[in-house]
Amino acid sequence: MLRQYELVERVKAYDPDADEAMLNRAYVYTVQKHGSQKRASGDPYFSHPVEVAGLMTDLKFDQETIITALLHDTVEDTLATIEDIEANFGPEVARLVDGVTKLSKIETMPENERAAENLRKFLLAMSEDIRVLLVKLADRLHNMRTLHFIKSPDKRRRIARETMEIYAPLAERVGMYEYMREMQALAFEQLEAEAYATLTGRLDQLRSKDHGQVDAIALSMKQALAAAGLKVQVWGREKQPYSIWKKMAERHVSFDQVTDIMAFRVITQSDADCYRALGVLHTTWQFIPGRFKDYISTPKTNGYRSLHTSLIYENSMRAEVQVRTADMHQLNEFGLAAHWAYKQGDRPDGQVGWLRDLIEIVDASHDAEELLEHTKLAIYQDRIFAFTPKGALFQLPKGATPVDFAFAVHTDLGAHTVGAKINGRHMPLRTPLNNGDVVEIIKGASAEPQLSWLGFVVTGKARAAIRRAGRAKERAEIAAIGRKLFDEIAERVPAKIGKKAIRSAADRLAFEEEEDLMHAIGAGKLADREVMEALVPGSTANLPDEPPAQGRAISIKGLTPGLAYSLASCCHPVPGDRIVGLRPKGDAVQVHTIDCRELANGIDADWVDLSWGERSQGAAGRLRVVLYNRPGTLAEMAGIYARNYANVLGLELTQRDDLFHTYEVDLEVQDLAHLTRIVSSLRASDAIAQAERI
Ligand code: MN
Repeated sequence: MLRQYELVERVKAYDPDADEAMLNRAYVYTVQKHGSQKRASGDPYFSHPVEVAGLMTDLKFDQETIITALLHDTVEDTLATIEDIEANFGPEVARLVDGVTKLSKIETMPENERAAENLRKFLLAMSEDIRVLLVKLADRLHNMRTLHFIKSPDKRRRIARETMEIYAPLAERVGMYEYMREMQALAFEQLEAEAYATLTGRLDQLRSKDHGQVDAIALSMKQALAAAGLKVQVWGREKQPYSIWKKMAERHVSFDQVTDIMAFRVITQSDADCYRALGVLHTTWQFIPGRFKDYISTPKTNGYRSLHTSLIYENSMRAEVQVRTADMHQLNEFGLAAHWAYKQGDRPDGQVGWLRDLIEIVDASHDAEELLEHTKLAIYQDRIFAFTPKGALFQLPKGATPVDFAFAVHTDLGAHTVGAKINGRHMPLRTPLNNGDVVEIIKGASAEPQLSWLGFVVTGKARAAIRRAGRAKERAEIAAIGRKLFDEIAERVPAKIGKKAIRSAADRLAFEEEEDLMHAIGAGKLADREVMEALVPGSTANLPDEPPAQGRAISIKGLTPGLAYSLASCCHPVPGDRIVGLRPKGDAVQVHTIDCRELANGIDADWVDLSWGERSQGAAGRLRVVLYNRPGTLAEMAGIYARNYANVLGLELTQRDDLFHTYEVDLEVQDLAHLTRIVSSLRASDAIAQAERI
């Protein structure tokens, strides 16, 4: 384990301005907080954060990152709090430690293989600062290095699988190939113990047969290049069991057929030397056509630069060779982290330096998809990630609500949503979700999507499903009203109307289904006479012209003759409504609808049983109409009133937002049937989201 002064010296070596006192305090802080806690290895727990900090010094990270690495487990595993850390080490360290702590959340989630890609995105989204992610990767690497101390094989396998599926790909994505390879090698040992043992055995065998082969080839390469006047370094290594195993799986070949188990790296002093070195290698040894790649003149979009080739050595051994400069090498192996470390000396605006660097790399990319990969860190800032209670992860736009979540999980779940628990607490359905929320949707068997949800959902899927459900429901309602109206019309024609007559009427009016005819009647698209003519041609010939003269002609049965009355302005009863009279002491009778809420306040008054006189007609009904906020919808609403011969007595805009305008409308109508037809016409219109009596 690194000692305190060693760690501080390492930081001072590349950052002479680092705050030595603060680094020392952070070291002491983690030692004290973790106290007597032990690792599975038997080492004191604090050896782990100290080693992670050491890994970060290899990448020349700033002191905030080093301190974060030292403190990264204190909030999760000790009594330390973020507030305490902020007081001692400032807001930036507190923010970074908080970030790493939040990432650890993922390790307590149940396994779900399908969600691995989502989990990686989740980690990226949570890592608002890339340093958070890099500390997390170093943390995982050190845990993998000490994995063999853990006794439970199940736990070892779980951690290894997580590393293989989530952390190694993440390391690759941010260009930390060195971390990626080591994580994969360590995880492979756990996950494919048998294959690992076999491959290690075969490699040992080869090694004893061709003792020192790798070193010998490296030396002869170096000599050939030196003879051509090139100053180079050459490293050779045998490939890791994991990369051989992967190659065997990818190419469906046996171990013996994997010939290129040696890999060499030639480090030159300039770009031009890379090509010169390649020329020397290609003229000294036979190379394999088709395996040569020039990533220097055409870098990979993540910035990776190198020449790749494969040589055949002494007529049998294949060797992969990568030729690159030292700068390229550092960048290739440690990606963004290396880039960031190079630049940190001259970043003028402090902590956003890494982001600028990221943008520089992105600017150099051409491929749209690769570019997306690189900008995900930023892109995910407008996404949130939420979990089902079983741990499945769903990605949603920022501002998404439990209703959006429910529809994302399954259309059927969305359709039956009645409530939601967020992190175990009942919350309103309109609550915007936060990253990492666990959302439990409460279902009702007979529940239906509510049109009012359109006011807060943000996903297209939820919006479309709610509209569809609303339309279907309204269509059925309107058709039901149409059927009632049809029965009345049918009584007015001089014939008995059966199934057959309805069918032929629908045909005459060019409706495919009987239901379509009923809907058209309910929506007020057909005049009564048109329907009568379709049922019995010629049946309207002797009827007077429409509309008949209208006017108020109200009589109410049940009142003492001569007694004054008024139609209540709370519920606006119209002929056809069931009504009741309220007579406060010494006052006129108020006529209310039977379901008026004001009746609850009338306990002291006398109640009078009332009904409408025959041929009563003409009263003001009040509607609440919700229009979509777009041009033409108001005219459409007015047109519906005009076509239905209803006078508008009053119109008031009561609520407006981006999506909807809500009006209260007083209409002069003949009776309940008239008002009902108007409501169904409104509901049938595309301009109108909602229409109801109030
Ligand atoms: Mn840790």
